[in-house]
Amino acid sequence: APALSRSLTIGLIPADGIGKEVIPAAQKIIEHVIDKVDFVNLDAGFELFQKTGVALPDETVEILKKCDGALFGAVSSPSHKVAGYSSPIVALRKKMDLYANVRPVSSAKGALGKPIDMLIIRENTECLYIKSERLEKDPKTGLQTAWADRRITEYASKRIAKMAFDMALVRAKNPTIHSKPKVTIVHKSNVLSVTDGLFRESCRAVAQNPEYKDVIVEEQLVDSMVYRMFREPEVFDVVVAPNLYGDIISDGAAALVGSLGVVASANVGDNFVIGEPVHGSAPDIAGKGISNPIAAIRSAAMLLDHLGYNAEATKIKVAVDTVLTEGKTLTPDLGGKATTEQVTSKVIANL
Ligand code: ATP
Ligand code: MG
Repeated sequence: APALSRSLTIGLIPADGIGKEVIPAAQKIIEHVIDKVDFVNLDAGFELFQKTGVALPDETVEILKKCDGALFGAVSSPSHKVAGYSSPIVALRKKMDLYANVRPVSSAKGALGKPIDMLIIRENTECLYIKSERLEKDPKTGLQTAWADRRITEYASKRIAKMAFDMALVRAKNPTIHSKPKVTIVHKSNVLSVTDGLFRESCRAVAQNPEYKDVIVEEQLVDSMVYRMFREPEVFDVVVAPNLYGDIISDGAAALVGSLGVVASANVGDNFVIGEPVHGSAPDIAGKGISNPIAAIRSAAMLLDHLGYNAEATKIKVAVDTVLTEGKTLTPDLGGKATTEQVTSKVIANL
């Protein structure tokens, strides 16, 4: 990338389980496509919390702020509530104002044998996930009622919509399966007319910007979105949704393209990006050297893309696609017998 003369510094936060296997694999790939790059290894995670009582050290955040971007591995989510523990990636998103979770879902041949080329953009700071919940007990019957608040703001909705439209334009510069850029706004404003109504109106207001005149705008109620996504995934390009719906449709969409081990994501803000494979720490296979590094490698490509290293990112994506299409060197989750290292070497051989 000639436009960027100084060297790149990337923070690596492998965290738990197979994060410790797939992040080093992604690091190797980045080293192969970029000459001047420094890496900083940073601590975080549930395992660290068990050792030290801290899941996200202040030092990690301080150093991260000096990096250009970061790659995060995975955190184990304890099955029950552990006193004093909260997820470090959730905290990082907040501290770095990474308000969007961006997930590309693509495959030359998805679950239905149809091509898929979607980019799901999920708002990541509000909606039902503000975690404002409370219990109320009826003094007469002793029965409980649980309440949860949902916050939708014009500010956050417009901000996420703008990102969706901008990304639709960026995508349209490269060949995709879509003839024209399109943004699908997901909501349920027929039922939740105030909250989803505001989300919808905010997105529509952003769509009016003359910059976006060539972008097709479409709306889907979230239930029909799920139905259509499974019937005709090929019609979707960029999809923008509030936090809860975005969470659900992005996991559903991942199922259309196979193993969790191949789906990447990025946590994006205006000033920072953290690439993150969609999968968790996979305690069942951790330490065996057979975890699929592709989700992490693709997350590294997303990170580089956001940092302006577009040609390098494309190189990685093409190499990964080649390995997947050839189908000879695959980890067990994809029906193969290869190790993490063998898949990584195969991707490198294809760069
Ligand atoms: P966590 O609590 O960290 O979310 P989990 O048990 O939910 O852990 P996930 O990582 O979400 O585990 O994975 C679910 C399943 O998918 C597991 O069986 C896991 O082995 C498999 N899996 C996830 N990621 C990968 C990968 N990169 N390579 C191979 N298998 C994977
Ligand atoms: Mg999980």
